[in-house]
Amino acid sequence: MVLFTETTRRPDRLRAMIAVDTARTKPGARGAMTGARYIESLRDGREVYIDGRRVEDVTVHPAFKDMIAELARCYDLQNSPPYRDEMTFIEPESGVRTSLSWLLPRSAADLKLKRRNSELWNEFTWGQLGRSPDILAPYIISALHLKDAFSAVKHPRCDFGENLANYYRYCLENDIFLTHALGDPQVDRSTQPQNQQREIPEDEQVALHVVEETADGVIVTGGKQLSTAATHAHDCYVALSATFAMRNDPRCVLAFSIPLASPGLKILAREPVSRWFGSWGHPLQMLDEQDCMLFFDRVLVPWDRLFMLYDATPMVKMLGAGGGSVNFNFLGWANLCRAYTRMQLITAVATMVAEAIGVIEYREVASKLGEMVTYCELWRHAMDGVEHEAGPTPSGQWSLGPGRGLHIWFAQTSGRMTELLREICGSGIIMQPSENDLANPEIRAYLDKYMRGKGVGVDYKSRLFRLAHDLAASSFGMRQDIYEYWHGGDPARNRINLLRSYDQSAMRGRIEELLSRPLAHGTTS
Ligand SMILES: Cc1cc2nc3c(=O)[nH]c(=O)nc-3n(C[C@H](O)[C@H](O)[C@H](O)COP(=O)(O)OP(=O)(O)OC[C@H]3O[C@@H](n4cnc5c(N)ncnc54)[C@H](O)[C@@H]3O)c2cc1C
Repeated sequence: MVLFTETTRRPDRLRAMIAVDTARTKPGARGAMTGARYIESLRDGREVYIDGRRVEDVTVHPAFKDMIAELARCYDLQNSPPYRDEMTFIEPESGVRTSLSWLLPRSAADLKLKRRNSELWNEFTWGQLGRSPDILAPYIISALHLKDAFSAVKHPRCDFGENLANYYRYCLENDIFLTHALGDPQVDRSTQPQNQQREIPEDEQVALHVVEETADGVIVTGGKQLSTAATHAHDCYVALSATFAMRNDPRCVLAFSIPLASPGLKILAREPVSRWFGSWGHPLQMLDEQDCMLFFDRVLVPWDRLFMLYDATPMVKMLGAGGGSVNFNFLGWANLCRAYTRMQLITAVATMVAEAIGVIEYREVASKLGEMVTYCELWRHAMDGVEHEAGPTPSGQWSLGPGRGLHIWFAQTSGRMTELLREICGSGIIMQPSENDLANPEIRAYLDKYMRGKGVGVDYKSRLFRLAHDLAASSFGMRQDIYEYWHGGDPARNRINLLRSYDQSAMRGRIEELLSRPLAHGTTS
């Protein structure tokens, strides 16, 4: 039976991919995640702790249930008629309909499909999720691009490149939600020089390392700081960041992916942000995606889930950590679309606030709003630029053009945008009545009189300012700012890595030539 026949709009290759016979559907492949399946999948016995207590079921715990419900809603949306064709596709080899986040792009048209999918994920979640299910899929896809480099590291028990390829298929066919954990715990940074080969052995008490090889896999012990969404993702991709790639002790050189419910893996969730009573206390509070410490206590990593062991060469290459250039776009559309949605949201809220209190005509305020629009526009042009520079990689994937400079720029600009929003709001960002204040007849008349805005009532104004508060003044907003600054790794380190791989030879050559000869039109006296 033909599942779906596409009409005129789509590229030929996709049309071919979509008309698939259900008889060919691979047994066990479950395809695009649904809300109900997602919630059920999290009842897996994972060992989560918060505020000193073990959590029995993350799907009903007050600290996590809203985020989980929100993602379940998004998963249902990706399967719903209005979005199904923009967020899922039928994968020819397995015959299952699955998420476009997992499509391995092989053409400019594929990249366009992926862009739209990422735009929708971010539209649904207001550009607030650094770890939506769409975000980590590009990591595995990007690593696959270097499959041969991973295979080149030999181990008698497995082929690391093949493991990556098989794991990718598992994620693709089952729409797995990944998070990742790269850094060492923040115990003592004095022994980890940035961008340099580490000379002192890692602290065995702290850094994640292999303690034993067994017939089933390696046993690992140690900590990771940190892993966003570990409370509600399925698997964790554990590897090294550019800072930690050049290890001293080979036992600390590891990359693998395992379920977050793996025995021995303990997950410590931080205090929730922006919790408040009332139905519209914090409009974005359902998007608290949590950040967690991971403690591995003799956790088994099966041989078929290991991607790198004892030799970091492929990871150093993948991350450009050795100063080499990275000719593929590591993060793909997911992060670019997220940043764009976030910038547009902050700019629109600032504009609406300026209108609501009658300051939009002031030159200083309008100029600040114009600065915000400038950033939105720059980002849009940059997105078009990396799309324009997209092309095939040696492995046959299509990659967006290089985007390392973009991510560094956003790490420094995101905070500027929330600063501008705070400046435009004035004290109103904190001085608003609550929902219960508004319902109280004894003070309501005062609120109507003294807390309304220019042409808007107090209800609208307080809700609008609460959104601004969520973005730029609340614990949620501060966490988002901190996330944007740090999530791609230390911006200073990233700038240094970019500098070291940046080709300046043409301009340097011209300068050297200029300095080597008398000026053509220079004066002599
Ligand atoms: C909200 C949030 C979510 C995150 N989510 C994830 C995630 O899901 N997965 C993941 O793997 N990581 C995640 N991270 C971690 C992120 O990658 C790190 O925060 C980042 O790499 C910086 O490391 P650090 O926090 O340990 O800071 P540190 O490295 O401890 O830095 C602290 C300070 O010391 C300076 N410093 C440190 N070392 C040196 C040095 N050698 N030379 C000079 N200065 C130095 C830094 O510049 C900084 O000012 C997240 C971080 C945040 C804040």
